[in-house]
Amino acid sequence: MTDSSSLIAAKAVEDIYTEVGQWHVNVGEEKIHPKRMPGRWRNIKWWSSSVWLIFFLGPYLRWGDRQAVLFDLPSQKFYLFGLTVLPQDLWILSLILLFFAILLAVVTAVAGRVFCGFFCFQTVWTDIYVAIEEWLEGSPRQRQKLDEAKWGLNKIRTKGLKHLLWLLIGLITGISFVAWFMDAQVLWQGLWSLSLPSEAVITISAFVVGTYTLAGFMREQTCLWLCPYSRIQGVMVDQFTVLPAYDVDRGEPRGRRRKEALAENLGDCIDCNLCVAVCPTGVDIRQGQQQGCITCALCIDACDSVMDKLGRPRGLIRYDSLNGLEGQKQLPWYKRGRVWTYLSILTFAVVGGSYGLATLDALELKVIQKRQPLYVTLSDGSIQNRYRLKILNKVDKSMEVVISAKADAELMLIGADKPVAVTASGVTAHDLFVRVPKGDLAASTLPLTFSVKSIDSRQWYAEREAVFIAPASVDKRSEP
Ligand code: SF4
Ligand code: SF4
Repeated sequence: MTDSSSLIAAKAVEDIYTEVGQWHVNVGEEKIHPKRMPGRWRNIKWWSSSVWLIFFLGPYLRWGDRQAVLFDLPSQKFYLFGLTVLPQDLWILSLILLFFAILLAVVTAVAGRVFCGFFCFQTVWTDIYVAIEEWLEGSPRQRQKLDEAKWGLNKIRTKGLKHLLWLLIGLITGISFVAWFMDAQVLWQGLWSLSLPSEAVITISAFVVGTYTLAGFMREQTCLWLCPYSRIQGVMVDQFTVLPAYDVDRGEPRGRRRKEALAENLGDCIDCNLCVAVCPTGVDIRQGQQQGCITCALCIDACDSVMDKLGRPRGLIRYDSLNGLEGQKQLPWYKRGRVWTYLSILTFAVVGGSYGLATLDALELKVIQKRQPLYVTLSDGSIQNRYRLKILNKVDKSMEVVISAKADAELMLIGADKPVAVTASGVTAHDLFVRVPKGDLAASTLPLTFSVKSIDSRQWYAEREAVFIAPASVDKRSEP
């Protein structure tokens, strides 16, 4: 380093110490007031957090005269745009959930708890709560001072407004959650007229309390002590997983510099603690990977800003694997067995879920044979059975269907001469008789297949096998 650049770096070091000298490293025994600073990862965090806008705005997307995506629990129907998924199709939803669970495992194996740092509702909501706190109460130092100050008008006003905004966010969160399970328009009407069902009121209240407590007060403690994912993620990462990591070889021996001591043989870490000050969970990344690290990379932004001021290369803290830090060859993700294992399960979930959605029949048919009596012998000798057809229409439009039946005998359907109107997204029961001339029966049981077909342009179709029952004497008669 030249003399002039040494002087510039020395001034930068003084500035950093002046700025961060006030920081106290929180080890969990007190409330963490993380410092917020701009940077590349901070911007990425804002963008990734914006995914949650889907949660808030999604329920207001309409599809025809109803909500596009709605989990209608009371009527046990899940509306997905034009599709209606009923309880018997819930295996598709299970595969979709499996997809997201395994996606989480793949991402963790490749890049650690990137979900925690950039997408998790707990860290995203906490981030917003802290932003409000900073907006109203100022920098972490000012927040600490306000916490310690005696209660007065200013403190009551500032804290009161903060808690009001926190509760308001909790309320919006609760309303948005319920809006996925109850038509959003009906929900808002119920809110304005104070006539919401008790289940909705209880759920919204639980969300207000939960969000306010978890994001406002418990914050990083939720990640440390309550989150099960932080406990199991240890088995998903290995020496190839890329995580925010401190380059010990480059940083150590760390040490505070003074102007005259700049030339000392120290590592690049000037022990300014800025990386700890910005950490939302109070982790000191220089002590190695810890359970509390949510991989938000904000410490990278902090340290990069210090390195910029010192004129040193960025990346003292950087995304790297254990192998990378030790100078060993990094295995690309596609050469890692565990990634392929997770990807195989992921593919199974994608293929299964897609197949299920693509082949989701609009019509489903159930046939129940009336058993009292099992059959009736008519005056002309023909045998008659009675059936109840349950026609399930999974689309959100009513339709008319034609009922037919086929078997190895001449069948006459009584009660199926006209198309039957089938209600939208529901089951329609229809009773009919099947009659077979006595001479046509070769046995006391005759397999037959019922079918329903819509008469509109879509020609939805479903069929179901059943049995026609005749007297046992038919068997005797046909014996050789
Ligand atoms: S790692 Fe970087 S930010 Fe952290 S104390 Fe060292 S120089 Fe400061
Ligand atoms: S150590 Fe760094 S990456 Fe980990 S939580 Fe703290 S700021 Fe985020």
